Amino acid sequence: MKAVAVTPGTPNSVHLEEIAKPTLDQVPNGNGVLVKVLKVGVDATDREINDALYGNAPTGDKHLVIGHECFGIVEAVGDNVRRVKPGDYVTATVRRPGGSIYDMIGTNDMTSEEEYYERGINLRHGFLTEYFVDEEEYIVRVPEGLKHLHVLQEPMSCAAKAVHQAYEAQHRMKVWRPSVAYVLGAGQIGLLTTLILKLRGLEVYTLARGEAPNLKAEIVTGLEANYISTRETSMAELVKITGKPDLIVDATGSSQLAFESMQHLGHNGVVVWTGITGGDKVTEVPSDSINLQFVLGNKLLLGSVNANRNHFEMGIRDLALGEMMYPGVLEKILTHPVDGLDNYKEMMRLLVEDKDALKVFVNVANE
Ligand code: BGC
Ligand code: ZN
Repeated sequence: MKAVAVTPGTPNSVHLEEIAKPTLDQVPNGNGVLVKVLKVGVDATDREINDALYGNAPTGDKHLVIGHECFGIVEAVGDNVRRVKPGDYVTATVRRPGGSIYDMIGTNDMTSEEEYYERGINLRHGFLTEYFVDEEEYIVRVPEGLKHLHVLQEPMSCAAKAVHQAYEAQHRMKVWRPSVAYVLGAGQIGLLTTLILKLRGLEVYTLARGEAPNLKAEIVTGLEANYISTRETSMAELVKITGKPDLIVDATGSSQLAFESMQHLGHNGVVVWTGITGGDKVTEVPSDSINLQFVLGNKLLLGSVNANRNHFEMGIRDLALGEMMYPGVLEKILTHPVDGLDNYKEMMRLLVEDKDALKVFVNVANE
């Protein structure tokens, strides 16, 4: 069967690879699920992998099959699978366990080992192919009513984790009632984070470069949040209007903006960084001032990566609630479909060149 792969270490090596169709018996103890891939989304991580800034092939292989945002339909299950059955719509988690205690309790996203295993990203093949097999543990059912949001499940799981982690960490405050949140960046993670925070009742300001009207602004306002173009209003100016935010989630992919946001956080607040910056950019920051403010204001900086099964389930619940509250808004994120694995060059071109491509995804197959 066909698969879209790269040769890690070689820039712009995206190509089609012929690989064997997986079989259920590759997973021991009857725990396997065979999934027919319907759609796969690509994001900035795939771009960095194709730029050879990030990612590694599984040991012994020269190529890495990419794609970590999948949506498919169960084709067959092993004898001991209970959670899903043929015909169910599903997605899959990305990280696979290493050897730490966190990996042993299903929280692979929290591994304490330096090496991590991620399908389609690091040391494990991904989903941009026709079929895949995995253990039941990593397969998450998607309700039929959310089928139209297909490839958003994985990015939503990362957004769900980031927000959940912030709230978990804020148990350090005996009382924490955040009211103002800034979301930096209006890409898929920024928009999905905006949804989650609105559902939690916050006053949300989502900041991005482009001036309204544009699609991102339309989605943000569709979610009853405030869209701020940083060309018109800087973060510092916004603070003068809203007061310092209790929560900032950075999803810009710019380490410079991630650091800059630290200067605007309110007392007892938390900044969550979610960007994966594979480059080697160096930025000057007002370190004395940030250090002083963080100490005097008991502030917290938190990194959040990946997501485990629980976060996928949280994300799915919020997507479902989001569809009830803001019907038809979220599907606007899914802007750029590409038909068929054969069109992988067009997929990468849109990802690299098209600034209006909020979400590029491949229609791999029909049901
Ligand atoms: C993926 C995450 C992954 C992270 C780091 C993101 O694009 O969505 O699942 O953990 O990259 O590799
Ligand atoms: Zn991703």
